[in-house]
Amino acid sequence: MQDCIFCRIVAKEAPATIVYEDDLVVAFHDIYPKAPVHILIVPRRHIPTLAHVTPEDEPVLGRLLYAARVIAQEQGILESGFRVIINTGRHGGQEVYHVHLHLLGGRPLGPMLVR
Ligand code: AMP
Ligand code: ZN
Repeated sequence: MQDCIFCRIVAKEAPATIVYEDDLVVAFHDIYPKAPVHILIVPRRHIPTLAHVTPEDEPVLGRLLYAARVIAQEQGILESGFRVIINTGRHGGQEVYHVHLHLLGGRPLGPMLVR
């Protein structure tokens, strides 16, 4: 999967500011941050989209959310609050086809969706 930028980051073959990693997931700063805290949390394993997950992926899916909570605390946004987003597919606005959870915070994030 060397043509996948997030696989390359997981493999430490592409640069990223990694803020958290464990046996299932890796987290790093989004290269174009949309908020004071904007971190991407990705499975180590290449899964293209949320539409591709299977029952075996349940542990990693849980870990993505739990890691978001751990990182939110480390980033100092646990009390002020934060948002997690997983864009999926064409209508979801997904640009990188390796599942990733956006962790956003550090300012009021406004309405959930812009029409
Ligand atoms: P999405 O639209 O949900 O697929 O979001 C993809 C995100 O990945 C965007 O917010 C990009 O800024 C971010 N991104 C793309 N390439 C990199 C990279 N090399 N390192 C960090 N973030 C990246
Ligand atoms: Zn990948």
